[in-house]
Amino acid sequence: MTLFPDLVDTVLSESIIGRARKSGALDVRVHNIRDYSEDKNRRVDDTPYGGGKGMLMAAPPIWNCYSAIVENRGKDAPKARVVYMSPRGKLLTQDLARELSGEDGLIILCGHYEGVDQRIIDEIVDDEISVGDYVLTGGEIPACILVDAVGRLCDGVLSDPECYENESFSDGLLEYPQYTRPPVFHGMEVPEVLLSGHHANVDKWRLEKAREITRERRPDLLGEDGSK
Ligand code: SAM
Repeated sequence: MTLFPDLVDTVLSESIIGRARKSGALDVRVHNIRDYSEDKNRRVDDTPYGGGKGMLMAAPPIWNCYSAIVENRGKDAPKARVVYMSPRGKLLTQDLARELSGEDGLIILCGHYEGVDQRIIDEIVDDEISVGDYVLTGGEIPACILVDAVGRLCDGVLSDPECYENESFSDGLLEYPQYTRPPVFHGMEVPEVLLSGHHANVDKWRLEKAREITRERRPDLLGEDGSK
């Protein structure tokens, strides 16, 4: 649910997510909240009670949009989890993305301006989710990040699930360095072990490097004794 459907649709029509939507592995529908305004000028925002700068998205058009989506899903459909993209929310992590990828459906609300009337959050939202400790102009880019992070974990979206089994955060470690051809670039050689064909040694090297990088960059991901 957004006021800028083209922004979301454009981003989510490209590359892997775009292909997954075409193949039917992912069903992403973008709804324009403005279409649900009952105002003759299709207004969707108003000034905040109590004063203050900026405009707030009003509750009724969001409620109308949400109700239409729920009705369209059908009365026998499992309840979709409702997410409001918000800098006040819990931080989006790989664990949270994995949890959401197991849901039967997600309804994502994108805020704009100064945000949305609290009563619509109280009425329909299950989770407020943030993409980081900074403030963006709208929830559309955060929603695209969420759909990308969650979508790529859904069945049939990536050709090989191994792609995400070994990557950053999948086992609590950041990813090891990777190399491809040519074997020498600007005088820098590919680590010899990767050319050895010895799989056990390659795995050992990768684990060591993953631990080293995690220790350097994100010690918070490791156990208290630095283990993992
Ligand atoms: N007044 C709000 C506040 O101080 O928390 C910020 C509103 S922001 C300008 C407009 C919309 O962008 C929000 O309603 C939210 O949907 C989205 N947004 C901005 N930053 C975000 C973030 N870090 N994570 C998720 N959504 C964000």
